[in-house]
Amino acid sequence: MNQQTLVLVKPDGLKKSLTGNVLTRLSETKLEIVAAKIAKVSRKLAEEHYEQMKDKPFFEELVKYIRGELHERRKVMAMVYWGEEAIVKVRELAGATNPEEADPVSIRGAYGRITTRGIYENVIHTSKNAEEAEREIKLWFEPDDIILDLYPTKQVVIKDKKIRIWA
Ligand code: ATP
Ligand code: MG
Repeated sequence: MNQQTLVLVKPDGLKKSLTGNVLTRLSETKLEIVAAKIAKVSRKLAEEHYEQMKDKPFFEELVKYIRGELHERRKVMAMVYWGEEAIVKVRELAGATNPEEADPVSIRGAYGRITTRGIYENVIHTSKNAEEAEREIKLWFEPDDIILDLYPTKQVVIKDKKIRIWA
C-alpha cells in the first residue's frame, strides 16, 4: 500500500552536515520525495509537532532542540516521502529513538547521540503511523507545497489577507 510519511532532518543533522548522508540512506527505499523545504520552526509549530510529549519532563528541551536553539541552526529540513510501505521503511532506516539502542548501521545509530542533559539527539524525525503522518504532514505543509493530492482539500476565498509578494 502506498503511504506518505513526514521526515525531518533535525538541527543536529543540519549542523553535522548530514543532509546528504540522510538523503542517500533514504534513497535506498526507492520512495519518492513529494515535498521538501527548509523551515524555521516557530514555538507553536514545535509544540504542536510534539503535542504527545507535552507531559514529559524533557518537553521544554525537546522544543528547544527542534527549534535549533541547542545547535545555533534555527531550521530543519522537512520532507514528505511517498510510496509502498513508506512509514515502516523510513522508520527502519532511521532506527530506534534512543541512538544508543539503535542498530549501529541505522541513521540514528550511526549519527545520533545523547546529550549530557539527557535529550536524544537523533538526527531525524519520522512519522510513527498513518494517523500521525497525516497530522504531521498537514502541520508542516500546505496542499500546494506537495506534488500529490494526499488528503482531501477545500477551496476557500480569503478576503483582506495580507501576503508578501516579490517587489
Ligand atoms: P520522532 O518523533 O522524533 O521521530 P520517535 O517517534 O522515535 O522520534 P518519540 O517517542 O516520538 O520518538 O519522541 C520524540 C523525540 O523526543 C525523540 O526523537 C527524542 O528526540 C526525544 N525523546 C523521546 N524519548 C526520550 C527520552 N526518554 N529521553 C530523551 N529524549 C527523548
Ligand atoms: Mg514520534
